[in-house]
Amino acid sequence: MRISERLAAKQTFSFEIFPPKGDLPIDQALAVAGALAADKPDWISVTFSAGGSGNSANTLAVAGELLKRCAIEPLAHLTCMGSERADIDAYLAALAAAGISNVLALRGDRIPGREVADFAYASNLIAYIKHVAPEFCIGAACYPEGHVECEDFELSMRHLYAKQQAGADFFVTQLFFDNELFYTFREACTRHRIKIPIVAGIMPFTSAKQIQRMAFTCGATIPAAVIKRIVSAGDDPADQARAGLEYALEQIADLAANGVDGIHIYTMNRHEIGDAAYDALLACGYLED
Ligand code: FAD
Repeated sequence: MRISERLAAKQTFSFEIFPPKGDLPIDQALAVAGALAADKPDWISVTFSAGGSGNSANTLAVAGELLKRCAIEPLAHLTCMGSERADIDAYLAALAAAGISNVLALRGDRIPGREVADFAYASNLIAYIKHVAPEFCIGAACYPEGHVECEDFELSMRHLYAKQQAGADFFVTQLFFDNELFYTFREACTRHRIKIPIVAGIMPFTSAKQIQRMAFTCGATIPAAVIKRIVSAGDDPADQARAGLEYALEQIADLAANGVDGIHIYTMNRHEIGDAAYDALLACGYLED
């Protein structure tokens, strides 16, 4: 199933999981995927060495098993920074052999020592995939507050437009904590002639420390409402995580009410986060039982 077809037919609901690092068995990630499968997501995406975690070797294995064992459509992430054409060719061939037809084409997080090889930007990778393997449905990353390395928001929007023109079929957003910024971004997309669907990615904050780290790595604004929730949760990590989940559930209910193309939950491999999102979307009528 091509994700673009699903997005053309309905508002989608999906999850992100990450594979284990190095030689660790993939069973834990598959157990999470198995539990999430019960929520009948439209797809589950599998990260590729996000944050320099070095787990890309297991992306394909986890994505393949998602399809085989759980009958869930995988969206395999693929980064291009430091890659040569031959690496990408081999990866695309392996995805096709595993029956995977959806790929999230990314530049990748900056990792010290990794230099640009054949692809400088995600748009170069997208154009290449479109050329050598047009059968793939291609997703790409977008940034409601602009990308952290690009100080000029309008320029950031032009780079997004380039990804659409290179052949991206849909966008998935970076996490954000202020829905108003997302709605403003959607308007900016319309102004910039971006017509492909935009799936909103939501990650619950789990602690004061984690949200500060995310603000610096992704450039996401932390609204006063979030700071107040953390302060009123106090010092107990469990209370802070509960406050984060509650806030995320309010965010997705609001997105559901505002005609979003799709909702993507960054589960951090915790199926209870996905389950809570499923229940909230069922309660507000976005999903049907
Ligand atoms: P690009 O679109 O190439 O943009 C990178 C920067 O270059 C931006 O500042 C952009 O404005 C600028 N730019 C683009 N084109 C040009 C141009 N022609 N000239 C000058 N500047 C230009 N990272 C991982 O490593 N693994 C993952 O699995 C992963 N999954 C992700 C999933 C989602 C949904 C999102 C939103 C991000 C994910 N990331 C992942 C993080 C991503 O790799 C980083 O945000 C990275 O810094 C940028 O990737 P990109 O594909 O958006 O790059």
